[in-house]
Amino acid sequence: MSTRICIIGTGYVGLVTGTCFAEVGHRVICVDNDPHKVALLQRGGIPIYEPGLDELVQRNVAAGRLRFSGDIAEGVRASEVVFIAVPTPPRADGSVDMSYVEKVTREIAAAITEYKIVVDKSTVPVKTGERVAETIRRYNKDKIEVDVVSNPEFLREGSAVQDLMHPDRIVIGVASERPVAKMKDIYEPFRAPIIVTDINSAEMIKHACNSFLALKISYANALAVICEAGGANVEDVVHGMGLDKRIGRSFLNAGLGYGGSCFPKDISAFIHIAEQLGCEFNLLKEIQRINAGQIQRFLKKVYDTLWIVKDKTIAVLGLAFKPNTDDMRLAPSLEIIRSLQKEGARIKAYDPKAMDKAKEHLTNVEFCADAYAAAKDADALILCTEWNEFRQLDLEKLRSIMAQPIVLDGRNLFDPAKMKEAGFAYKSVGR
Ligand code: NAD
Repeated sequence: MSTRICIIGTGYVGLVTGTCFAEVGHRVICVDNDPHKVALLQRGGIPIYEPGLDELVQRNVAAGRLRFSGDIAEGVRASEVVFIAVPTPPRADGSVDMSYVEKVTREIAAAITEYKIVVDKSTVPVKTGERVAETIRRYNKDKIEVDVVSNPEFLREGSAVQDLMHPDRIVIGVASERPVAKMKDIYEPFRAPIIVTDINSAEMIKHACNSFLALKISYANALAVICEAGGANVEDVVHGMGLDKRIGRSFLNAGLGYGGSCFPKDISAFIHIAEQLGCEFNLLKEIQRINAGQIQRFLKKVYDTLWIVKDKTIAVLGLAFKPNTDDMRLAPSLEIIRSLQKEGARIKAYDPKAMDKAKEHLTNVEFCADAYAAAKDADALILCTEWNEFRQLDLEKLRSIMAQPIVLDGRNLFDPAKMKEAGFAYKSVGR
C-alpha cells in the first residue's frame, strides 16, 4: 500500500532512502534546509555521487512519486509518516551534536495538525526517542497524538541504493503497537526480515553494529602489524579466517583504517554514551587507538622508503574515504597528503569521483585527469582508495612514466608478486 512520506534531511541517507521509498510506490517529499541543494534537485541535478541514484531519482520524479522542498511544514502536512535524516555530527568531546535533530523535531511539532508517525533515521544515542517524543509534546500546541519510532539506517555509501533496495534487515523501535502496521507496510516491498524492538534497543543496535564492524577492521589491522613482524601475509590469514562461517570475511581488511562520516563519529559517540551511562567500554577505545595508528604506520613506511620527501613529487591515487563514493569526510587520504605536504612534498592526485569535494579540503594539490597523469614523473605513488579502475592499470606503462618505480599501497590492492615482476619497489600493509 502506498504511503505518503516526508524525509527531512536530503543527504546521503535522506535522498537515497526517499528515492528508494518512491521506487517501491510510496509518495515522497524530501525536505532540506540547504536552498542550493533543493534548487539543484528541483532542476534535476544530484548533489552526491551514488551508483544508480541519478537514474532512480529521475524516474521517480518523472512518475510524480518524488519531489523536493525547502519547507518542513509543507512536508509534514503532506505526509502520514515523517522521517528525520539530518546530521548527528561529533562534538569536540566525542559526544553527539543533537542540535539538528532537536531543531527539526521542534519544527515538525509546530507543523503537526493531525496524527503522525515521526521516525528517527539519524544515528542517535540511546534514549533519543524519549527526547523526541517529549519535544513534540512540548512544542505541538494542539497536543496532537504522535508515535515516535526509531528506524536506524544501515546503508553503506558507495552501494547505498543496492543496500536500501535489498536490506539484510529492517529495525523498527516502538513504544507501542500502534505504528507497527504502518511501518511494516512501508517496508513490505523490500522483502527483508523486520525486527520490532523497543526504541532504546533499536537505537543501540545501530551503534553496536558500527562498533563491531570497526572492531573487525581494527582486528585485521592489528593482525597486519603482527604479520609483518612474523613474516606472514595478512591477506592469506584473513582469507583463512573469513571462510569460517562464525567469523565471515567482510570488513576483515587491513589497510589505512576506517574513515568517513560514520565509523569515527559513531565509535566516539558510543564511548561517550557508555560513559554517560556509567559503563566503561574500553574495547572501543582500543579500536580507535589501532585505527589512528594505521595512518601513522603507513606514513612511516613512506618516509622510510623515500628517506626525504622534501621537493619530491608524490602521486596519490584515490581520495574518497572508500571506493564508489565522492565523500571526503575524514578520508585517510587527507591526513596522508597534509603530512607529506608539511614535509615539503609536491602532491599530484587523482580520484574517479571525489576530486570536486577534495578541492574543498586540500590546497596546493595538482588534480589530474587520470591515474597516469598523476603518476607521470612522480618519485612515488601512494594508493589511498581501492577504486576498481586502479586494478586495471597497465603496470608496464605506469612504471615507464614514473620518475622512480615506487608504489606504496595503503589498501593491498595490487598483487606483490606482479608488482615485483613489473619492476616496482612495492610496499603494502601486513604482507
Ligand atoms: P548528510 O550531511 O549527507 O545529509 C544531511 C542533510 O540534512 C543535509 O542535506 C543537510 O542540509 C540537511 N539538514 C541539516 N539540518 C537540517 C534542517 N534543520 N532541516 C532540513 N534539513 C537539514 O548526512 P548523512 O550522511 O545523510 O547522515 C544523516 C544521518 O544518518 C546521520 O545521523 C548519520 O550518522 C546517519 N547515517 C549515515 C550513513 C551514511 O553512510 N552516510 C549511514 C547510516 C546512517
